[in-house]
Amino acid sequence: MANVVEIGSYKIGDGKFYVMAGPCSIESKEQFADTAEGVKKSGAHMLRGGVYKLRTSPDSFQGLGSKAFNMATEVKTQLNMPFISEVTDPRQISDLLNVVDVFQVGSRNMHNYDLLKELGKTKTPVLLKRGFSGRIEEWLKAAQYITAGGNKDVMLCERGIRTFETATRNTFDINAIAYIKQNTDFPIIADPSHGVGVKNLITPVALAAAAAGADGMIVETHINPSEALSDKHQALNLNEFESLMLQIKRVLNALDRDLA
Ligand code: PEP
Ligand code: MN
Repeated sequence: MANVVEIGSYKIGDGKFYVMAGPCSIESKEQFADTAEGVKKSGAHMLRGGVYKLRTSPDSFQGLGSKAFNMATEVKTQLNMPFISEVTDPRQISDLLNVVDVFQVGSRNMHNYDLLKELGKTKTPVLLKRGFSGRIEEWLKAAQYITAGGNKDVMLCERGIRTFETATRNTFDINAIAYIKQNTDFPIIADPSHGVGVKNLITPVALAAAAAGADGMIVETHINPSEALSDKHQALNLNEFESLMLQIKRVLNALDRDLA
């Protein structure tokens, strides 16, 4: 049985399936609010929305930073949904503590041990994404940097790894979902969006992750994907997200599991 990570009234790792959804980045109050309302209607439990973005190119949109704090707080309060966002630097922790319910550590920071150690001193749950070149063993050691500081509320997130394959952005490692379930106490969350990087493959991979035992998923969704300022090729629109949720419920039912 996994360690249960409590986020408000939710207990991740209790056997039910939890869904975090929202845009890659918060772009405006309207964009975040409309997307959030839509995903809530389809059954999402928590909201995602990047504020500090680590982009491959310094010329790409870097996120609204602290300008998005009020937008996030207003929307999550109005919808009564916990909010997860990425922390990229230990200096952001104290401000973000007032805004997020879960810290996300991105793939590029799985090896940022100073960041992990600082998160270990907080009492806020952490979603630790797998580095795109990170072995499972290295990922588990990274998690220990957080738990060693006293913060045991760590969830792991499989978000795809870099392999020789170039047809998709990353290769989603379904093995890792089953491995983490069988060999560790950490809840495991699937990120099919970054795992494949193209929207048509997100639903089948999400269903496979649920069937393999994932405790939940985090899915990039946008009110208008073609206009998204980051990761637009992998953003589901609200209809596509609704359809994904209906199919996830069927897979869970077949396995005697429930959506939370
Ligand atoms: C994200 O969740 O938007 C993100 C940047 O993910 P990753 O760190 O997995 O690339
Ligand atoms: Mn993204």
